[in-house]
Amino acid sequence: MTVPLDIIEVAIPLYLEKSFHYLVPERLKQTAITGRRALVPFGNRKLSGYILGKATGSSIGNLKEILEVLDSEPLWTAGELEFFRWTASYYQHPLGEVIRTALPAGINIQTRKGTSGEQASLTGGKTALREKFYLPGAVSAAPRQPGAKALEILAVIRDAGGISAGELRKRFGACTAQLKRLVELGLSKAEEREVYRDPFKGHAVKRDEARTLHTHQKAALDAIAQCLDGRKFTPFLLYGVTGSGKTEVYLQAIFHALELGKNALVLVPEIALTPQLTGRFQARFGGGIAILHSGLSDGERYDEWRRIRRGLARIVIGARSAIFAPLDKIGIIIVDEEHEASFKQSDGLRYNARDLALVRGRMERAAVVLGSATPAVTTVHAAEQGRLTLLELPERVEGRPMPAVELVAMKGSKETISPALSACLAETYEQGRQAIVFLNRRGFATFLVCTECGKPLTCPNCSVTLTYHRQRGQSLCHYCDYAVPAPGTCPSCGCTTLSELGAGTEKLEHDLKELLPPARIVRMDSDTTSGKGSHERLLSRMGDGSADILVGTQMIAKGHDFPCVTLVGVVNAEASLGMPDFRAAERTFQLLSQVIGRAGRGEIPGRVVVQALDTEHYAINSAAEHDAARFYREELEFRREAGYPPFSFLAAFAISGLSEEAVSAQADSTTRRLAQLKSELKVRVEILGPAPSPIYRLRNRFRRQILLKGANRGDLHRLLAAWRQQATIASTVRISVDIDPVDMM
Ligand code: ADP
Ligand code: ZN
Repeated sequence: MTVPLDIIEVAIPLYLEKSFHYLVPERLKQTAITGRRALVPFGNRKLSGYILGKATGSSIGNLKEILEVLDSEPLWTAGELEFFRWTASYYQHPLGEVIRTALPAGINIQTRKGTSGEQASLTGGKTALREKFYLPGAVSAAPRQPGAKALEILAVIRDAGGISAGELRKRFGACTAQLKRLVELGLSKAEEREVYRDPFKGHAVKRDEARTLHTHQKAALDAIAQCLDGRKFTPFLLYGVTGSGKTEVYLQAIFHALELGKNALVLVPEIALTPQLTGRFQARFGGGIAILHSGLSDGERYDEWRRIRRGLARIVIGARSAIFAPLDKIGIIIVDEEHEASFKQSDGLRYNARDLALVRGRMERAAVVLGSATPAVTTVHAAEQGRLTLLELPERVEGRPMPAVELVAMKGSKETISPALSACLAETYEQGRQAIVFLNRRGFATFLVCTECGKPLTCPNCSVTLTYHRQRGQSLCHYCDYAVPAPGTCPSCGCTTLSELGAGTEKLEHDLKELLPPARIVRMDSDTTSGKGSHERLLSRMGDGSADILVGTQMIAKGHDFPCVTLVGVVNAEASLGMPDFRAAERTFQLLSQVIGRAGRGEIPGRVVVQALDTEHYAINSAAEHDAARFYREELEFRREAGYPPFSFLAAFAISGLSEEAVSAQADSTTRRLAQLKSELKVRVEILGPAPSPIYRLRNRFRRQILLKGANRGDLHRLLAAWRQQATIASTVRISVDIDPVDMM
């Protein structure tokens, strides 16, 4: 790796397909090494590029020279580069951009034309945190008296053999003058040292012991341990309801990996959940844990990254970007709540960390454990096919029963809160217990639902909900552009009383206040949690008993445990069924299962009231009956019939721009080009659209989308690669291609 390179290949972090060749001047020959960044001239700019290795098949010709080497240590290993290349190829994304995404924010720099070149760039990255340290000097006795306080300080410095300026200030207060004097006299010398910011600072943790595993946990751990011992890539699905002891299995599996000298990577979906989980890891393992998530400052993140790179952390916990952590000797990768959409990055490199965990795990010959109480439909299918090994934890650890659920039909009813829910709320309040009322109503994309039969209007071609566009007077399919006059009639029963679906959380809060005037109500949705820390503040009001009812959107469905919550109400269970997305039923089932699981975590058994217009829908009643197997069976049947994943592979083109005409023209020409390539290549890919995106105007940009459905990955990949070879894109529009899209908005 340390062979000096004469002509090097450099990846540039720009939307460019290829890498570039540069000459290495004599003075940089020793340092221009694979894995470091180089400052390179690019057009009339200077950019930092990534040195990939020696260039092959290039003549000196008119190559430019690199200007500077920016790092003293390599930033990635050969194995990591292989992973980056795989990612670039799969997501059809430039390698330079993949590397930029993989490295911590702040490490990348890009100088602009006109700024003072190298100097700015060499220091422009987020630097490591440095602190001044004072050490004993060469002079041992003072030639002149430096003062009593200075002598006291000197004694401490000599005692410690070296101590930070911050520590000295803590002990002696302001002491800059004395320190300066000591250095002048040669009694002490100052030195800058790298220190790490500590994201755990101030968090004392209690030590925690491994639990004796119950039978199912033990079987799961044995299977994982066997795979760790054999150093063989094995992917697992750890399927168990919340509280069934999954985390305990993760902890003990990681312990086993550490014993074998291996390291562990743990991916979690939500930043909000990380403190609890990291707390449990610390309690079990003590130090050696690094956290990587977007809640850290760039500096903290960079520090964590360096600690991992240098082997100082053996367990890495983080949100999706942690999949790129510079961890070596990975023995196990855990993806907790693997079904969560937040593992998918929604802009730039649109990777899915859950999927990449399997790829990195295969490359590292590691065990990969995907854990969930409500796994993705595609994951369940993979387990059925034997591509994942299924490990089940069928019951809760404490043996607490699942809550009793009452399903209330709201057909023909005008009120938000049914008499059944209202009575339960009153009773719970009188008993001095807490309740959660859940309504997943987001601000956009209204749809029409028949008040007679409770069915939403759906597209006959795509099996997704039609979106109601009031101004156009149409209900529209956002996949294929199918349209019908709106409001219109219900295609299922012919009735003409179609209504826009229901109220939001604000209205619900209002109605609850009228219903129970003395109850203290807290509302939690994106409107009330925008401030920093507001999320925790609202939740703490439930925790300390200063609130009786928590009202909220999907935000309240996850993670937190409220032992005093004995009642959960769900208003408009079908709210998320109306999303114009083929995963609407899956999301609804997962969300309902999670909300239902919020009830009765404590001593008192919980109960749940689910209000729905369409009580017959399998996503709703299978969640209410705790019958997951039935949900997955029916949903897979639907996916097979409609040709959606796992029975097809998707890619979505998003075309956006400020001019609607330009966007529409580009969408049309891109669709034509794709159709032409499809027939030339004879690939089995269905091209749907172009259609307006569900959010058809966002931040002033008009948006259209084209959806590609491939019968297999190979065909889809070939078509996309051919398109990318010679895509013609108007300068006023942007096109992004999303492989395995999750968010169809
Ligand atoms: P999950 O991750 O599936 O939600 P946890 O691992 O958090 O489940 O377990 C739920 C609770 O039960 C935790 O408080 C945990 O400490 C405890 N627990 C887990 N396994 C055992 C066990 N084998 N014996 C006793 N308590 C356990
Ligand atoms: Zn359609």
